[in-house]
Amino acid sequence: MPLNILIVDDSAVMRSMILKSLRMADLDIEAAHQATNGLEGLSILNAHPIDIDIVIVDINMPVMNGEEMIQRMKENEKTKNIPILVISTEGSQIRKEALRRQGVAFIHKPFSPEQIRDTMNAMVGRT
Ligand SMILES: [Mg+2]
Repeated sequence: MPLNILIVDDSAVMRSMILKSLRMADLDIEAAHQATNGLEGLSILNAHPIDIDIVIVDINMPVMNGEEMIQRMKENEKTKNIPILVISTEGSQIRKEALRRQGVAFIHKPFSPEQIRDTMNAMVGRT
């Protein structure tokens, strides 16, 4: 099934690198929506009739960071079960552990296209 993806990162360069990696990974992507912070991301998630299959989110962003965005997603019936992949420079084991406990996948910046491919495939249940 073609995937609708939402990429949330305040860096335009990073968003295009992630997008390029998704294309290189040969994933079946129907649409890749983009947002520059958590608040924008939430408004795309809550907009009808868009249904997002996977959210890729940065942690450090202005206006609303990734942790708060994830927390708000978990509190909302419509968005609480959408798989989340965090791609971040975050170094704190405690914060990463907290994310993993919520079922969030994690990739460190800088990343390789293969890491994105393997993680995304695992998230959509393919090998
Ligand atoms: Mg950032």
